Amino acid sequence: MNNTIRVRFAPSPTGELHLGGARTALFNYLFAKQNGGKFYLRIEDTDEARSREEYVDQICDSLRWMGLHWDGPLLFQSRRKEEYRAAVKQLMNEEKAYRCFCSTEELAEERTNAEKEGSFYGYSGKCSQLTDSEIKGKLNAAEPFCIRLKVIKSGNTSFLDEVYGAIEVENKEIDDFIIQRTDGSATYNFVVVIDDSDMDITHVIRGEDHLTNTLKQIAVYEVLDRNIPKFAHLPMILGTDGKRLSKRHGAVGVQTYREKGYLPQALVNFLALLGWNPGDEREIFSLEDLVQEFSLSRIVKKAAVFDDQKFEWMSGQHIMKAPANELLERIRKLDPEWKKSIIPDYLLAIVEVQQQRMKTIVDIMTQSDYFFDDPENYDQKTSLKRWRDESVNTLMEKFLNSLGSVEEWSEETIEKSLRNLAESEDLNPGKIIHPTRLALTGVPFGPSLFLLMEMLGEEICFRRIRTALNRLPLSEGEDSA
Ligand code: GLU
Repeated sequence: MNNTIRVRFAPSPTGELHLGGARTALFNYLFAKQNGGKFYLRIEDTDEARSREEYVDQICDSLRWMGLHWDGPLLFQSRRKEEYRAAVKQLMNEEKAYRCFCSTEELAEERTNAEKEGSFYGYSGKCSQLTDSEIKGKLNAAEPFCIRLKVIKSGNTSFLDEVYGAIEVENKEIDDFIIQRTDGSATYNFVVVIDDSDMDITHVIRGEDHLTNTLKQIAVYEVLDRNIPKFAHLPMILGTDGKRLSKRHGAVGVQTYREKGYLPQALVNFLALLGWNPGDEREIFSLEDLVQEFSLSRIVKKAAVFDDQKFEWMSGQHIMKAPANELLERIRKLDPEWKKSIIPDYLLAIVEVQQQRMKTIVDIMTQSDYFFDDPENYDQKTSLKRWRDESVNTLMEKFLNSLGSVEEWSEETIEKSLRNLAESEDLNPGKIIHPTRLALTGVPFGPSLFLLMEMLGEEICFRRIRTALNRLPLSEGEDSA
């Protein structure tokens, strides 16, 4: 008996990879890697009407982007119809499954009656009582039928979930559920067992919405006499409003996060903490750290909350930590045209400065214009506050004079010249720093002013300050922004 851990992620390709799915994939991956096991990707595309190949590509792309590389080829349920049919046939031969000819109306009536009585509704099992000749008659009359599993009604079905503990149900509460629909296609609770069993899956790790399905699946394992894997269900993910995370909460697809310029390492880190607890105060983890640290026993039952603000913060931490050339490469992937004509060394220097304060690579792309172009406008509020009147012009003229005499244009000499001037004018240095930043960038925030000035170079700084001297202060009613 081979002891290798084998897990799988089994998305349905009916949409892009959403955060819940991405978290499931991540936990499976971590568990496999930590144990030297295998992580498989199975595409559950039996719903032909809703499954699309482009989603398969997109899901694979998202997983690769997150660094969750799977083992072996992709497995497609749609290519395994023969296996499902064979398993149904086996159960029919062993009289562990039966044809059900009940019409939708009949079933609806059964349900209404059960609801009236307030009792659990499950299929009555009526068709399991049909005689051979009744069945023959219906088949000859070409009555449509589905196939149901014959569930033994005595005793209990139970399993020990690695997260939720013992889960048990009385068998009389599991009805004879459908394993093959009228159109011949097999149902999820059936095929998932055939697949997991054929793939020798040792641990099924998935969302807690499948907790109750698991009982039905165990019934299938039992009738087929196959090995039952271990199960670990992951807690729900909620939005900050306490509701199940959904499109209403904004971006919920991995691709959307990618396009918005978040780093995969930030998303991986954040998803890992949705339901898993490292046992101490640490919050920043790389994928490699997680492979070391992850454990199923530290998954909590309590629903996890996806807090956008926390995610923003974490994203900033990862942007700060990432090598500038990695960020530049990612920017290039997002937009190959971005500042193509600028020499890479200068771009790299800009990224290095900007990554200290930005939350996404898109922030770096959209908030760095002043490194390349003179500002067209000056933020109005800042202008009114920082360049209040002509006295600022006088001060800035003096600053230009002092700058004119610095010997070597560097962060240190610029700073010294500004601080000396502030001292001789008996002013807080901020009185010069803020208008200078405004003149150079047009906006109130940015990286260290002295570093920025060194990077822009003497000529550009002089030109921009002179332009500002002509255009500021704003005259009353003038809208500069
Ligand atoms: N296709 C199912 C889903 O996306 C898979 C559930 C499972 O892992 O068994 O929810």
